[in-house]
Amino acid sequence: MAPSETDRLYYTDCYLREFDARVVEVKAESRGFRVYLDRSAFYPESGGQPADTGTLDGLPVLEVADEGKAVAHVLAKKPENDPVKGKIDWARRFDHMQQHTGQHVLSSAFEKTGGYKTVSFHLGKESSTIDLNSDRIGSRQIEEAVDSANRILFENREVRIFFAPTDAASRMELRKPTSREGDVRLVEIDGFDLSACGGTHVSRTGAVGIITVRKSERIKGLARVEFVCGGRALGKARDDYRFLSGAALQLSTSLENVPSLIQKQSAELRNAQQAKEKLQERVAEYRALELLASATERKGRRIVRAIVSPCDLEDPKLLAHAVVRQGSATALIGLKGEPAGLIFAQSAGGPDDMNAVLRQTVAQVGGKGGGSRDFAQAGGLDNGNLDKALTIAASLLS
Ligand SMILES: [Zn+2]
Repeated sequence: MAPSETDRLYYTDCYLREFDARVVEVKAESRGFRVYLDRSAFYPESGGQPADTGTLDGLPVLEVADEGKAVAHVLAKKPENDPVKGKIDWARRFDHMQQHTGQHVLSSAFEKTGGYKTVSFHLGKESSTIDLNSDRIGSRQIEEAVDSANRILFENREVRIFFAPTDAASRMELRKPTSREGDVRLVEIDGFDLSACGGTHVSRTGAVGIITVRKSERIKGLARVEFVCGGRALGKARDDYRFLSGAALQLSTSLENVPSLIQKQSAELRNAQQAKEKLQERVAEYRALELLASATERKGRRIVRAIVSPCDLEDPKLLAHAVVRQGSATALIGLKGEPAGLIFAQSAGGPDDMNAVLRQTVAQVGGKGGGSRDFAQAGGLDNGNLDKALTIAASLLS
């Protein structure tokens, strides 16, 4: 048999933090017990708003579930007393009231300023989102709606909650209609919005504080707008200030100069990187000529053997390519490092298979790698084995 209907105290008084209630029924379940009360101020998860947390007789309430007529409180232990004392985690609840009321105001503002309808609402841990029925919403449309919404907060308008029979409610102009049977709970923001809603709200718009948008994105023909209200907006503003002043300190500039200075420095960095790449090419060419001058010769080919240390201006891959570009040559290059590596290359169409030479070499000295017929590389070697590796590789050349 279904538990009897719970009198939802938050329906008429969203500011009720503590209450006494009789225990109507207790059912065992996997996490402990589902406790049913004759009345409760606990908000169950519903309509995009998360459930309240808090305690019943000092026992933490793990979950509050909406079972239609009844509200179930999930507890790990059975309460010993009857009646029980319920306490709502007020900081969390008030935060939800700010976000949820802010959502009504913002959704109505989007509808009034641009005709955009809210198709869904999610109240998240850090921020909330509404999905609007158009993906053609730019920053200008968002600013207009946010300005309009905040004006309604500054005017500190009354937020009224009342009930109306379904047929009467269906004749009203509701921004958000309902499919609920029986009496409909209506939330009215004086002269601005009327919606059917079972959630918890502040009593005047001023208590929402401020509404700010944090992000907007297009999702399958909709616009998802992320926003924060009240205490969350204050927290985000504080975070923003901390991040921005940290960046300003790093750049030795004022807060408002941070974006332009980052842009300028990024351009400088790109130029410096391009200049460095050109220099690396030049250095590789000079170094290749130097190594070729002292290279050994075998059957008309010059064989370069070198062990190089990692260096900003010397790139071993560029060096290998520079060597094999100079006529008929083979480059056997060991790269010092943790771990060390090998690069084997030959001029295009040379007589050996660099991939095979490399694989046979690492089979004897350790490491892992591979490549093509003219270019192969390996890593994961010990520095102490580089010289031996080059000797083995040289002996494998035809
Ligand atoms: Zn609501």
